[in-house]
Amino acid sequence: MKGIVGYQVNHRDGVLGESGQAYDYIMAGNGLFVRAEKLAPGGLALLRATVQVAEAPVRELAPLAPAVEFPQGKPLELHWHAFLALAKQRPSVEVYAAVVWRDGAYHLAVPEQEGTGAHVEYQAVADTVVDMHSHGHMGAWFSTTDDADDTGFKVSVVLGRLDMLTYEVEARVSVYGYHDRVYVGDIFR
Ligand SMILES: [Zn+2]
Repeated sequence: MKGIVGYQVNHRDGVLGESGQAYDYIMAGNGLFVRAEKLAPGGLALLRATVQVAEAPVRELAPLAPAVEFPQGKPLELHWHAFLALAKQRPSVEVYAAVVWRDGAYHLAVPEQEGTGAHVEYQAVADTVVDMHSHGHMGAWFSTTDDADDTGFKVSVVLGRLDMLTYEVEARVSVYGYHDRVYVGDIFR
């Protein structure tokens, strides 16, 4: 039976080794990577990501590059703009929303939540592909609270400085506790 985690080696003629149910560690010529694929209940792929865990030269192996893919197409910029409007309406509290895959399309879900000036508690939504939260008047950076929350597999966007016309935004992909920065312009279409 497959383990939760797989361990693989990126040889020059392809990846060898057992794949895990949740994610795989891959040793490559330029270090150690983690790779995961998120599937909807029907088995449809919603998100794929490869994140570098550590840099190291490993002789004779092929290198890997970090990557984020949306197999169902990029999420809609419309949903990002809707979230932006929602967050700007409530600049004194943190606001949370998620782009989820449901019934064959992306939807914006705004779950039950309790936001304060420094934190937001929310009910996680199934099949979240991208989640977004705001930091009110504070800067857009992933806090230790965010690190503690983002232990699953998803893309996250944080929005800050809502008191400024030129708000701040940062994005990252989280793969079970490993994070890698993503350019927000590469997420939405
Ligand atoms: Zn945060």
